[in-house]
Amino acid sequence: MAELDRLFQAAKTAMEKAHAKYSDFPVGAAILTKDGKIYSGANIEVISFPEGWCAETTAISHYVMAGGGEITDICVIAEKKDICTPCGGCRQRLAEFAPSDAKVHLCTMDGIVETITMADLLPHGFESDALIKAN
Ligand SMILES: [Zn+2]
Repeated sequence: MAELDRLFQAAKTAMEKAHAKYSDFPVGAAILTKDGKIYSGANIEVISFPEGWCAETTAISHYVMAGGGEITDICVIAEKKDICTPCGGCRQRLAEFAPSDAKVHLCTMDGIVETITMADLLPHGFESDALIKAN
């Protein structure tokens, strides 16, 4: 199976594990690193709504806890919305770890239908050197 197929399947499988009982809007995300490792995640909601988090955030947590690596591709899927893009907060979180040329694959339930880059996803993002310059 090609790596992008594995990445898509990982995001889809993660989506099936979503804890989205309040929104009923399951989302899955998966991160692929240059060494072929995949880290996936689903959205997890709690009754105190602001305390839940997104699929991308879960995937980033797995990525960081496993030691990270060079991110090359990211896949996001939501069964109830074709081409579900990451929210603003997740765009910033992904940009913390993924280079601007990392590919972000947007999907339907059948597969990847559009590919953009992190730079496309978060133009003019808040960059890490901003704090260095401020100090
Ligand atoms: Zn998000």
